[in-house]
Amino acid sequence: MSNKCKSLSPISLYVHIPFCKKKCNFCDFNAYEGIEEMVDDYERAIIKELQLWSPTLESKEVISIFIGGGTPSRIPAANLKNLIKIIEESTNLNKSAEITAEINPDDIPDWDINDLQNSGINRLSIGIQSFIDTELDLLDRQYTGTFAENQIQYLQSHGFKNINLDLMFGLVNHTMGNWKHSLSKAIDLEPAHLSCYSLGVEEGTLLNYRIEKGELPHPDDDLAAEQYEYSIKELQNANFIHYEISNWAKNGHQSVHNSAYWDMSEYLGIGAGAHSFLSNKRFSNVKNPREYINIMNDMQANGNQEIKMKQVVDGQDVSKNDLLNDSMIFGLRMIEGINIENFKIQHNKDPRIIYKNIIEKNKLNGLLTETDSHIKLTKKGILLSNEVFQNFI
Ligand code: SF4
Repeated sequence: MSNKCKSLSPISLYVHIPFCKKKCNFCDFNAYEGIEEMVDDYERAIIKELQLWSPTLESKEVISIFIGGGTPSRIPAANLKNLIKIIEESTNLNKSAEITAEINPDDIPDWDINDLQNSGINRLSIGIQSFIDTELDLLDRQYTGTFAENQIQYLQSHGFKNINLDLMFGLVNHTMGNWKHSLSKAIDLEPAHLSCYSLGVEEGTLLNYRIEKGELPHPDDDLAAEQYEYSIKELQNANFIHYEISNWAKNGHQSVHNSAYWDMSEYLGIGAGAHSFLSNKRFSNVKNPREYINIMNDMQANGNQEIKMKQVVDGQDVSKNDLLNDSMIFGLRMIEGINIENFKIQHNKDPRIIYKNIIEKNKLNGLLTETDSHIKLTKKGILLSNEVFQNFI
């Protein structure tokens, strides 16, 4: 698509691939094992959906694409290459757009490295979670720590330097020693970006069921807090920039795509269960992949967005208040905090005035601090961020 005369507004594109080799016991994402027979239909459906959004995308410039899941590496790299080519042809894709694919270590040997190198993907996000075999077993992951390490090195040796590694702390039966091992292994591999999350025990997951039944202990929250504090120091020593509560990057490698979520920019989600934020409206597609495919198949060849809006998505306008609150919560997730001038431009309101009482209370408690240009979490506030965010809900 070429639209050089008009001024284009930036948008990020998310594409959801719901296939997984095995459903991990902690995972509550919209991801499924054993539905590979749907792959071809699903790929056709996401391309149809993309075409349906063409009129909307005409006035936008795609600044990032994130192919997530699920596990995008469950489908061949050649198919992802084709998908990116179609996106390139049907949208105003910025030439330097960040294009990320989420992958699992155990899928890498099945991927054609040449296809991957020519796919347009310029960033890989690898779900490692741990380098300790017993922990990987407990999480139902399908590889060993050494295997994961070898696969990362294999990708790096084939030119993929812009790599994110996902790690989890606060695991069931976790120890400080094991976390130190996983974190230092990750640092030694020299990724450009690290995401370190605390394990959440989500309702409806097998892990939650086993904990509720007493088969496994609850994760230790105090240990998780210690592990997080340790990570902040250790990653600083390794020259990573802590730019978001759970994310660290080498200089210049902060994620463009995720930053769009945190600074409340527009994003469009394609695929089963994908979420969007467009024109101050939040909506998400139907979650079930088969239902999603059927609806897309039923669309008339010339596709009508209104039909799509009614059949595929479930959405709601975001009230002005919610928009302000979300801006505060997402903005405070960024370590540099909320840029007061940007907030005023975005909302025509001064956050220091509308949230005066909340800001003062949290400043008194040592959780927030304010400069001329920013409102941000203090070191203590970063550790107790959920407590701060509650104030804006
Ligand atoms: S591979 Fe990822 S998306 Fe799939 S079940 Fe495991 S954690 Fe969830």
